[in-house]
Amino acid sequence: MSTLQQEVGKRRTFAIISHPDAGKTTITEKVLLFGQALQKAGTVKGRGGSGQHAKSDWMEMEKERGISVTTSVMQFPYNDRLVNLLDTPGHEDFSEDTYRTLTAVDSCLMVIDAAKGVEDRTRKLMEVTRLRDTPIVTFMNKLDRDIRDPMEVMDEVESELNMMCAPITWPIGCGKEFKGVYHLHRDETILYQSGQGHTIQDLNVIKGLDNPELDQAIGDDLAEQLREELELVVGASNEFDLELFLQGELTPVYFGTALGNFGVDHMLDGLTEWAPAPQPRATDVRVVEASDEKFSGFVFKIQANMDPKHRDRIAFMRICSGKYSKGMKMRHVRIGKDVSISDAVTFMAGDRSHAEEAFPGDIIGLHNHGTIQIGDTFSQGEALKFTGIPNFAPEMFRRIRLKDPLKQKQLLKGLVQLSEEGAVQVFRPIDRNDLIVGAVGVLQFEVVVARLRTEYKVEAVYEPISVATARWVTCDDERKLDEFRRKAGVNLALDGGDSLTYIAPTMVNLNLTMERYPDIEFHKTREH
Ligand code: GDP
Repeated sequence: MSTLQQEVGKRRTFAIISHPDAGKTTITEKVLLFGQALQKAGTVKGRGGSGQHAKSDWMEMEKERGISVTTSVMQFPYNDRLVNLLDTPGHEDFSEDTYRTLTAVDSCLMVIDAAKGVEDRTRKLMEVTRLRDTPIVTFMNKLDRDIRDPMEVMDEVESELNMMCAPITWPIGCGKEFKGVYHLHRDETILYQSGQGHTIQDLNVIKGLDNPELDQAIGDDLAEQLREELELVVGASNEFDLELFLQGELTPVYFGTALGNFGVDHMLDGLTEWAPAPQPRATDVRVVEASDEKFSGFVFKIQANMDPKHRDRIAFMRICSGKYSKGMKMRHVRIGKDVSISDAVTFMAGDRSHAEEAFPGDIIGLHNHGTIQIGDTFSQGEALKFTGIPNFAPEMFRRIRLKDPLKQKQLLKGLVQLSEEGAVQVFRPIDRNDLIVGAVGVLQFEVVVARLRTEYKVEAVYEPISVATARWVTCDDERKLDEFRRKAGVNLALDGGDSLTYIAPTMVNLNLTMERYPDIEFHKTREH
C-alpha cells in the first residue's frame, strides 16, 4: 500500500448534528480531551481492545492549553486513526454554513437528548445528510437525568428519521439510578461513576451478562431486569450491519452522558472503527478518489478575522485527493491561475499551526486575500470543479446605510468580505449606488452590523426595503442576456462574487418576469 493510501485509510472526518442544548459542545469537549490526552501521552495503545486507558491529567491540560471548542476544525489521533472533527455553528437559525460543512465530512455524529428525543433542528440537519447518504453514529445523551424509555426514543429515530437503529450499548437505569451500560458487542458491563466528568475514568468492567459480579455491582433486581430487557432489545432491534451503516440506512446507537464523560469513548471507538475513510467526491467531469495521486480539494467555508491580531481571512479547504505539501503549486481552477501555497494552516486539536503536509479528509486553511470564494476548487492543473456546494437565495432583505457617508469604501469592503463567509449576501444594484443585504435569518443582520462595527470600524444601520426574493440569473445566449440587462436593469444587481442577480420586489413580479423572459434561467441557489 502506498503512503497516500495508508494516510487516507487512517482519516475519519465527521461533524456533529444536534438540536441546541442536546450537548454538542459538551461532547466536543470530551472528544477533544480524549484526543489531546492521547496526543500528549504520545500513545494510543490499549484503547478499546484491552480496555486500558492512556493515563493523563485532563485538568492540567485544560489549564495549560485552554480548551477551545470554538475552533472550527479539530484534528486528533484516536485508536489508530486520525480524526478530523468539523464544528458546525451553534445558532438556532439553520445556517448555510452548517449545510456546507456537512458537504465536507464523510460521516456524522447525531447527539440526541434522551429525555427529549428527536427534535426540530436534528430533523432538518438529517434531511441534509440524507441527500448524500452520510453514515450516522448516534449518541443518546444525558443518561444522568431521567430520560424517556430508550426503546421508545429509538423507535422515534426509526420512524421520524427513517433510519434503522442498532444499539451497541444499552443503558442500565438512568438519572440517579444510572449504573452504566452493557456493551452488546464486547459482552461486558461498564460501570458509571458519577462526578468524574473531567477525567478519563478508570474502567470498571464486568465481563459477561451472567457474571455474579454484575449482581453485586448493580443489585440483583437491576441485573435481572437488564437481562430481561436485553433479550427484548436484541429481539426487537436491528443488528449492526456495516453495509447498511455505510449506506446511511442504519445507525449504531450509544448511550451515555457527555457531562459525566461516560460513553463518549464507546462512541468514538465505534466511529473510528466503522465510519468511512475519505470518500470519493463528484466533480463536473469525473469522480475523484481519495487515493488519486494528484492533489484536489474544495473550499466549503470562509471565515474573516479569526485571529484579531492578524485580521486575516481563512478559506477552509477539504482535501479530496493527493497530498498537500508546504510550498506546493496548485491551480485555482475558477480563475485559472497557479498559486504557491506555503503557509496553509492545520488545526491540530484546537491549535492553529502551519502544515508541512496534509492528506485527503484533512482540512487546511488558506489565507485569503479576496480571490477565494466558497465552492472554489483547487487542483494540480486539472480543470475540474467539485459539485454540490450551494449558496441559497436569501429570504430576507434590508438596505444598509452608513451613519458616516465618508466610509462607503470601508463598508463595501466589509460587506463583501462578510458575504464571502456565506452567512449573508450583499447585492449592488447595477443602476444606482445602493447596498442591499440579504440573509437567511434575522440573526445574521444583527451579526453583520456588530461585526462591521468591531472589525471594520463602520457604523451602519438598516432600512426596510420591499424585496421578496432574489434569483441568480444566467443565459447561454449573450445577446438575450444583454437585452434582459437593459430592460430589467432596475431590478438587477451584482452579488459579492459579481454574479448577476434579479432582485424581485414581489413574487408576482418574479413570476411575470420569468414568463416574459423564457430564455433567461432563474436559479434559487448559486452553485459556485
Ligand atoms: P449544545 O447547545 O448542543 O452545544 O449543548 P451544550 O453542550 O452546551 O449543553 C447544553 C446544556 O446541557 C449545558 O448546560 C450542559 O452542561 C448540559 N449537558 C450536556 N450534556 C449533559 C449530560 O450528559 N447530562 C446533563 N445532566 N447535562 C448535560
